[in-house]
Amino acid sequence: MNRYILVLIILIAAACKGGANSASAASSNNAASSTVLTAPDQRSPTSDTAGVVAGPISPTQGNGAGSTANTAAGNTSPGTSGSSGSAAAASSQATAGSPNPNRVPNEMGRIMVLEYHLITDHNGDYARERGQFRKDLELLYDRGYRPVNMSDVLDKKLNLPRGLSPVVFVFDDASPEQFRYINNNGKLEIDPTSGIGIWLDFRKTHPDWNNKAVFCLLSGASAGHNFFGDRGIQGQKSNWRFQKVKWLADNGFELCDHTLWHAQLNKYPDAFVQEQIARNALAIDSAVPGYKIRSMALPQGLWPKNRALASKGSWTNPKSGKTVSYDWPVVFEVAGGPMRSPYDPAFNPGMTPRIQVIGNAIEAMINKLEQSGNMYISDGNPSVIARPAAGASLTATTPGVKR
Ligand SMILES: [Zn+2]
Repeated sequence: MNRYILVLIILIAAACKGGANSASAASSNNAASSTVLTAPDQRSPTSDTAGVVAGPISPTQGNGAGSTANTAAGNTSPGTSGSSGSAAAASSQATAGSPNPNRVPNEMGRIMVLEYHLITDHNGDYARERGQFRKDLELLYDRGYRPVNMSDVLDKKLNLPRGLSPVVFVFDDASPEQFRYINNNGKLEIDPTSGIGIWLDFRKTHPDWNNKAVFCLLSGASAGHNFFGDRGIQGQKSNWRFQKVKWLADNGFELCDHTLWHAQLNKYPDAFVQEQIARNALAIDSAVPGYKIRSMALPQGLWPKNRALASKGSWTNPKSGKTVSYDWPVVFEVAGGPMRSPYDPAFNPGMTPRIQVIGNAIEAMINKLEQSGNMYISDGNPSVIARPAAGASLTATTPGVKR
C-alpha cells in the first residue's frame, strides 16, 4: 500500500506540469473539495485512488510552454551562444561564496525564477534528488545568487549587496517531500531530509542565505498534496497542515495559490475556475489569517479560457452566502527563461516565466546570463538603479523611478 501511495505521489507530481491528462485530480477532488477548507481530516480516504492516469509526461510540453513564455519575456533574452565561455569560467572560479568584484552592476537585467517540485530520492522532470538540491543551493550561492521573494521583486526591494544577484525559488504542489515533520517524542521537528530541512541546514553555514522562496500551494489535492501532507502519508498528520503553512509565512517564505486540487483550468467554465482559485485562497487565509497572496501558479501552465480569472475573480460559497475574492499581480507560467527586471518597462508579472529545474538547467542559465551580460546584478545602493550601458548608473530620486 505504501508503495502504491508513493507511485501515486510521483504520478501526481508528474501530472503537475506534464501535458498528460490528470483525471486523478478531478476524481479526487470532488470528494476533497467538499470539506477541505473546514475539516480536512474527514475527507474520504479513498478519494484519490480512482483514475490515476496521469501517465507519462508529454515530452513536448516544455518546448511549447517555453516558446509561449519566451514571447512574454520579449525578444531581448540573453544570448544563445555556448554555455562554457571564459567569462563564465572566470566567474565560477571566483572565491566561493563571495561576490565576484568583476560583476558589473546591472539592475535592468534578467532574474531567474526557478521551478521545483518534489525534493526526493531521485532526479526527474518533476523531482530533484536531495543531494542535487543541496548542490543547486551551493552552485547558486557560489555564483553570486541570493534568494528573494517574488513580493520583493514586485516591491522593488531587492536590497542585495553590490555584485550579488537575486534568484526566486518557487516550489509547486505542497508535497510532504518539500516540508515534512517528524514527531520526536511529542515534539514536531522539521525532517532534515525534506526540502525545507535541507534549506535550513544550508543556512547554518551560509547565514546570508535568507528564508526567501515562494510556495505555490494546493490545499485539497490527492496523495498528500494538501498543505504538505495529510492522512498519514509519509507520516504526516492532517492537523499539521495549517501549522506548516503558518510556519512558512512566519519564517520569511511567501505563499502562492496553485488552485484547490491542481485543476487544468483550460477545461472548466469561468465559475469553476474561480472556485478552484478562491477556495484555495480561503484555505491559505484559514491557515494564516489576513495573509496577502501576491501570486498564483497555473497548474501545468494551462491558462483558463478567460485568462483574467487567473489573477482576479471571486466565488460565493453557496452554503454560507459569503463571497471570497482574489486579486494579485503575479501569474507563474511553467517555463520561458529568466524574467525581466522590475525596473524594465516591459516587466509583466501577469505572465511570469520560470525555469524548470531539470538536469543542469540552472548552471546552463547562469552561464548564458553571464555571457550575455543581461543579468540582474545589484549595485548595493537602493536609491540608484544601475544601468547596463557602458556600466553607467543613473541616479533616481527614489527606487523604482526610471530615468
Ligand atoms: Zn503543480
